[in-house]
Amino acid sequence: MFTTDTAAYAAYIVAALLFILALAGLSKHETARAGNTFGALGMGVALAATLALAFGHGMDNTGLVLLIVAVLIGAAIGLWRARVVEMTGMPELIALLHSFIGAAAVMVGWNRYFKVEADPDGAAAQELDLLGLLGIHAAEVTISVFIGAVTLTGSIVAFLKLSERMKSTPMVLPGKNVLNIGAVVAFVAMTAWFVIDPQLWMLILITVLALALGWHLVASIGGGDMPVVVSMLNSYSGWAAAALGFLLLNDLLIIVGALVGSSGAFLSYIMCKGMNRSFISVIAGGFGIEAAPSGDTDYGEHREVLADEVAEILAHATSVVITPGYGMAVAQAQYPVAEVTAKLRERGVNVRFGIHPVAGRLPGHMNVLLAEAKVPYDIVLEMDEINDDLSDTDVVLVIGANDTVNPSAAEDPASPIAGMPVLEVWNAREVIVFKRSMATGYAGVQNPLFFRENTRMLFGDAKDRVEDIIHHLGAMQPAGR
Ligand code: NDP
Repeated sequence: MFTTDTAAYAAYIVAALLFILALAGLSKHETARAGNTFGALGMGVALAATLALAFGHGMDNTGLVLLIVAVLIGAAIGLWRARVVEMTGMPELIALLHSFIGAAAVMVGWNRYFKVEADPDGAAAQELDLLGLLGIHAAEVTISVFIGAVTLTGSIVAFLKLSERMKSTPMVLPGKNVLNIGAVVAFVAMTAWFVIDPQLWMLILITVLALALGWHLVASIGGGDMPVVVSMLNSYSGWAAAALGFLLLNDLLIIVGALVGSSGAFLSYIMCKGMNRSFISVIAGGFGIEAAPSGDTDYGEHREVLADEVAEILAHATSVVITPGYGMAVAQAQYPVAEVTAKLRERGVNVRFGIHPVAGRLPGHMNVLLAEAKVPYDIVLEMDEINDDLSDTDVVLVIGANDTVNPSAAEDPASPIAGMPVLEVWNAREVIVFKRSMATGYAGVQNPLFFRENTRMLFGDAKDRVEDIIHHLGAMQPAGR
């Protein structure tokens, strides 16, 4: 017989398929918009089906009104944030959203505890007892609370670090690995105990332990490794949602959680490979950490250059490579950068871009900005495609990049970013660095590139300086090539 339940479960299958299409779409530039639409549609179908299910299972009018109000408030906040968020603020927004999933998993876990374990004579507990599932339910409660709490505080620390409200340098507690492993072992032991004798104090202890572990895992990770952490937390939030699905007996949550969890884990794995990090040590919350930041080294004096001199150098160059970074996004310098590129190409200069996989604050951040400014795709190359050509390049313009062009990653094994592949711009004949000061990059590590013989600093806002260069190029004689 066709009931609300059958209709809702059929809708869940449709929603699950839409989520799979969303993931497939989001994996390519050209199909990303369609992927987003599939995801939004899937979520709409899932919400409607859940509402119908809840209503069909005797939810009263107050419950219905509360649910609709919650959805409307959430949708309004979501729409507002999505409209006003700057591209540079995207990673911290994502980190914050992950923390909500963690918080939901903790709250649902606690709610289920009060409904079942704390009320053994209640209907829910009796029903599970008859099926012999009370122990499994208790384990699901602790697992959901544990994963949720780790995701919650881990994501809050990631948000604080990404929004620069907290220092990005790694926190190094003595014996941090022992602390992390000890916390996981204690959790497993307490879960076993909780299954036998579910006491409230134990759930409180598990929650506190997991909150502390999440905080510690992410606080111990240095700024340069944050991209991997964001995708790892994405994965954790998926597993938290899957745990919720088991607790609430909701198949769609299990499917969606598993999709997010495994795709996030896979992305973390790919990023670890790209950044030469060990996947296991990322999950264990500490890599590149033992080394102290080499902040006290005296690198000597840096040399400055002015925009008109840079215009001269560029006008007489044969090959130029531009390596943009986070500063280009902050300054919104992509439009004048595109203009200077066009002007130099008109003069016959071979201009190309070298893009580091973690330049900026989002995977693909620079590619999006350059595409926005209509820089031709064929001159935008990945790090691996351009690195070998840098030694034959006349001038490299480092526009607001820092960590991604730091030679200590390649040359100083004691550096916190040691081993991370970087754009080897120092091999070019001349390097011009656009930034406002001698401040460090996101990882908080000084950059010896700025003090090299062949490097000169062009201080100021990247957009203003590039516009100055365009102005000087405009005033020059056309090239006689
Ligand atoms: P960095 O964050 O290392 O450095 C950016 C530089 O831009 C700063 O040194 C800053 O110097 C300069 N800058 C800032 N504003 C301006 C401005 N208006 N005009 C000119 N310069 C400016 O940049 P990278 O792109 O090289 O490296 C990205 C870092 O972010 C890496 O450590 C990466 O691991 C991390 N990260 C990347 C994520 C991703 O997915 N891509 C996500 C999270 C973190 P000054 O203040 O002196 O101007």
